[in-house]
Amino acid sequence: MAESGRIPVPLRLCRGCRRFVRVDGREDCAFCGTDLDAAEAEHEANVTEMRRAAQALREALAGLVDGTR
Ligand SMILES: [Zn+2]
Repeated sequence: MAESGRIPVPLRLCRGCRRFVRVDGREDCAFCGTDLDAAEAEHEANVTEMRRAAQALREALAGLVDGTR
C-alpha cells in the first residue's frame, strides 16, 4: 500500500449515468443530479427482483426436466 499521505476519496457509482462520483457529503450526482441513495435503492430492488425471476425460471426448468423423464 503506497504511503502517499493522500486520503482516499470516497467514490460511489451513480446508477443514473454510471459514473463514479465523489461523495463530498452530497447525496446527488455531480454529473446528472440523480439522487444516489434513491437510485441505489431502486437498483437493489431491481437486482432482488431479477434474482427472484431467475430462481423462478430455474425452478420451472427443473420441473420441466423432471416432468419429461
Ligand atoms: Zn449520475
